Amino acid sequence: MKFIVVTGGVMSGLGKGITTASIGRILKSRGYEVTAVKIDPYLNIDAGTMNPGQHGEVFVLSDGGEVDLDLGNYERFLDISLSAEHNITTGKVYRTVIEKERRGDFLGATVQIIPHITDEIKASIRRAAEKEVDHGKKPAICLVEVGGTVGDIESMPFLEAVRQMRGDLPACDIALVHVTLVPVDTMGDAKTKPTQHSVKALREAGLQPDIIVTRGERAIGPSTKKKISAFCDVPQKAVISAATLPDIYQVPMELEKEGLADVLAERLNLAQRSPDPSWYRMVMKEYTGRVTVGIVTKYGIEDVYISIKEALKHAGRALSTEVQIRWIDAENCNAAVLGEVDGILVPGGFGKRGSEGKIQAIRYAREGKTPYLGLCFGFQLAVIEFARHVLGWENATSEELGEGRHVIAILPEQKTIDHLGGTMRLGDSPISVADGTLAMCLLGTHEIVERHRHRYEVSPQYIGALEGAGLVFSGASGNRMEICEIPGHPFFLATQFHPEFASRPARPSPVFLGFVEACRKHRQAAGRGG
Ligand code: GLN
Repeated sequence: MKFIVVTGGVMSGLGKGITTASIGRILKSRGYEVTAVKIDPYLNIDAGTMNPGQHGEVFVLSDGGEVDLDLGNYERFLDISLSAEHNITTGKVYRTVIEKERRGDFLGATVQIIPHITDEIKASIRRAAEKEVDHGKKPAICLVEVGGTVGDIESMPFLEAVRQMRGDLPACDIALVHVTLVPVDTMGDAKTKPTQHSVKALREAGLQPDIIVTRGERAIGPSTKKKISAFCDVPQKAVISAATLPDIYQVPMELEKEGLADVLAERLNLAQRSPDPSWYRMVMKEYTGRVTVGIVTKYGIEDVYISIKEALKHAGRALSTEVQIRWIDAENCNAAVLGEVDGILVPGGFGKRGSEGKIQAIRYAREGKTPYLGLCFGFQLAVIEFARHVLGWENATSEELGEGRHVIAILPEQKTIDHLGGTMRLGDSPISVADGTLAMCLLGTHEIVERHRHRYEVSPQYIGALEGAGLVFSGASGNRMEICEIPGHPFFLATQFHPEFASRPARPSPVFLGFVEACRKHRQAAGRGG
């Protein structure tokens, strides 16, 4: 097993996750089995309890792990299936060590950061690295991304563990990639000082980078590379420029052009292989049309719905259709805005704020025959909208949102839960799809498996009335409703599950494919062009 550790300097939000995933893609395109681990130095056990408005999307894995959004990037770039263990947090590490201490496993020793915490970090990395992530194939290379910025107090034990791994392993089994920012000053000159300082901070932790990836709006030239090489003591060819690109899936190609594959092969003693070009072909595909999808949300940051953005992109690419997203503020959405988009999407969400605006948007889509895709909360609100305006139950609502007729009610097994962390209905569940429905048309099979993250469901006592009024539940997991649709509408489909989490660049979600296709038709019918 070989390890490639990726650290970040200067500031967060540099695109370290995309860089890590892209390095993985380069190696996977050369036939190596690649896996990836994300280290998050915060004290939370997992991302499940964190506010997505601050921290970005909570990604959900097949096993129900609620993890950092970077694991979504790894899954998409590498086409692998990760587990909760692939996201190591300070919270998890300390919990394990403290549990061991309480059991008496340390036999009277003073329990310390070195060696007890660092040993546990190394063991967690190893455990995760060895897990099969791709149909039973054994991983050969593990990427380890250390979240945060070098120099943060929180990341120190993790960097110390990496430093120890460097000593424990043969030199050709572990490489260190440092991702930094190279800003441009008002004169248009690339500045290397922040990079120099961040490498200095890394050295203080006992680590010397093998490769430096520089991020910035513009690519850096040979003279800047030479300077970084001289000051940071890495060969010039190991200074890799990664300028911001219009599409994240182009990043592996850019790193290829910069020669990263050769540098890694040399450093890790890997055989020189030429890459399988299918990824690059897929990314270069031309668009022949365009659609605009309106996503109705209460959050001000786009990072909350990365997987939805990507799933739309995957479906769009398969249909040669460029999908543009219009973020629509749920608290300020009106017919004028909704009339300008080719399809409306209400994503997952929690809580009352913005929910009425989302219901209005769904009503607009249903009555105006605009394509609609609802995901999780967007499914529940579609049921509420239908109950209110088709069945005439004005007080229809969700137990989550307040008093009224609870067409959406708490899941029975959730009633006795008193802890919020990791207790939703999470991860994969099988769903049966009904014949003769839009869902069957799209999915083409009677049984699918999809990821979940919710506490509420369609109340079984109202299913009959809803169906009687024309809402079709075309997918179910036992007596739990999973898909709803409205026959006669060009495309009105909503899912209790989250199809966005399993969508891959080369294997788009059928639900998203159907939606983007419907948006394209709607746009043509509206005379807005292809
Ligand atoms: N808040 C809803 C629930 O808990 C929907 C959750 C979601 O959209 N992920 O059931």
